[in-house]
Amino acid sequence: MLGTGTPVPNGERAGAGIAVIHDGEAYIFDIGAGVIQRAIQAYERYDIEALYPPKINHVFLTHLHSDHILDFPELLGTYWWRRESPINLFGPVGTEEMSEGAYQFLTLDTETRLKDKSPVTNPDAARANVTEFDSPGVIFEENDLRVEAFPVSHGDWDLAYGFKVTTPDKTIVISGDTSANSEVTRQAKGADILIHEVISHEGWSDLSEEWQAYHQYAHTLTTELADIAAEAKPGLLVLYHVLHYGAPIEGVVDEVKAGYDGEVVLAEDLDIFK
Ligand SMILES: [Zn+2]
Ligand SMILES: [Zn+2]
Repeated sequence: MLGTGTPVPNGERAGAGIAVIHDGEAYIFDIGAGVIQRAIQAYERYDIEALYPPKINHVFLTHLHSDHILDFPELLGTYWWRRESPINLFGPVGTEEMSEGAYQFLTLDTETRLKDKSPVTNPDAARANVTEFDSPGVIFEENDLRVEAFPVSHGDWDLAYGFKVTTPDKTIVISGDTSANSEVTRQAKGADILIHEVISHEGWSDLSEEWQAYHQYAHTLTTELADIAAEAKPGLLVLYHVLHYGAPIEGVVDEVKAGYDGEVVLAEDLDIFK
């Protein structure tokens, strides 16, 4: 878990980011603020070479909210002159425009390094290879790893997705940001790990009516997630992207467990699940 946070500032949690490590390669799902620093920490702490920034070659975006994309320029700009191949970036329509903004932000860095005496390993690595999608289905399949995008419901976003990642030994479902959605239940049936966003029912109850309505429209309450998990029965339910407001964050585990008797954990940054 490279980032378990939300848009609410939190010194202990980077923005949303999950790395699936398969066969020596890292596949990054969302890249919120702080995720690249966490990747460097994971590289150092766990000796995961694939998480050294210039070695990260695959990034997938669930949607384009800031807490899921802010470290894209960070990844693009970090040591790119030592990068052998460009980043492959997959995201909903709009990803191309967002990445153009990132290249523009880094224009003077890129141009100066290309002119400088210091060698640049691959000038093309200053930009990413972007693949946009606007419908569900398989968006990536390589090296025995398949990524399927499925539609979720997240406020007024036309294009917000969850991902199902399948390898020969594991199936991992990532909810992305979503209100309670039966498509997640369907996708997560039989999954080894379901990584799901959540909002504390206790924290939500104390919000104003307007904010309660917004969160019901955009996020999944602990009580609703318990029903989803009870039907999908994943091997492990990992809670991340936890909105909790006035309630203690740890409470979300008990809130989910009140309606679900499977295994549930609250993810911290740099946790590893196998
Ligand atoms: Zn978010
Ligand atoms: Zn969002």
